[in-house]
Amino acid sequence: MADDIDRAGERIDAEMTARLRVLPVFDIPSFPECISCGEDIPAIRQAMGNVKRCVDCQIHHESSVRVWNHGHK
Ligand SMILES: [Zn+2]
Repeated sequence: MADDIDRAGERIDAEMTARLRVLPVFDIPSFPECISCGEDIPAIRQAMGNVKRCVDCQIHHESSVRVWNHGHK
């Protein structure tokens, strides 16, 4: 009985750990240069974490993703 409860707790711990591993975007290093145009990404933007594009390319990328999603609905 007690063993079952312990095992359930371990499973929840594992799920939480897996979920937390995905969440903290800030731990993912940013790129020093935009992967789309090669422009330097400002340090203040890099500090956000997981930044791969300059602002202009990010806006363009996000709008093209939206168009792509819209076209496939
Ligand atoms: Zn760019």
